[in-house]
Amino acid sequence: MIAVMGGAFDPVHFGHLRPALEIAEALSLQAVRLIPAGDPPLKQAPQCTADHRLQMLRLATSASPVFELDKREVERGGASYTVDTLRELAGEYPHETLVFILGADAFVHFQRWKDWQTILQLAHLVVSHRPGYQLERTQWPGKYWAETAEDFSRYRAGKILPMAVTQLEISSTFIRACIAKGQNIQFLLPEKVRIYIKENRLYQSS
Ligand code: ATP
Ligand code: MG
Repeated sequence: MIAVMGGAFDPVHFGHLRPALEIAEALSLQAVRLIPAGDPPLKQAPQCTADHRLQMLRLATSASPVFELDKREVERGGASYTVDTLRELAGEYPHETLVFILGADAFVHFQRWKDWQTILQLAHLVVSHRPGYQLERTQWPGKYWAETAEDFSRYRAGKILPMAVTQLEISSTFIRACIAKGQNIQFLLPEKVRIYIKENRLYQSS
């Protein structure tokens, strides 16, 4: 099973890392692959360059062997579409089951993602709870929902598994706003990332 978590990671914080670790443990995953987007199509361009975002992810993920960094979307350049990334991974690992991890906020808009039906032919989804967002079940017929994690082995793709994780009300938006206001961002993200942001004077203006 190959687990993938996409995002802008602008910057990476404990709200990404802790849920990903808990999901890895719950599903006995060897690793979670973090894939920073080159240019996220559904939101504003990241404030930070891909190089800085990658460097912050390197610092953040060095703390645990569970995280792997995958640079393909950044290297591809232009708009990053999850469907393209999953198609590539399916080609590289034809015998592996793919699992895509996303938060409840992103799941709300999932049916606006490019070729979302194809995404569900390529991968299962894990939707992690996120403070402030309801897990929206109404748009999804029952066949999509995984009964248990075992469904991920029983079916090739297309099952959605909601997962309760430690609720951390942290967002990159909030961190960027704190920095722009000159506030302390300690304990919201790994210390090494905080120091990197400070040394490189990132996010100083909003
Ligand atoms: P921004 O505020 O810039 O949108 P963000 O904090 O939402 O940043 P993203 O890079 O957009 O971070 O998110 C990447 C993925 O991580 C998404 O699937 C998102 O739902 C999930 N995620 C981010 N923060 C949390 C959190 N605190 N709890 C659970 N999931 C999260
Ligand atoms: Mg977000």
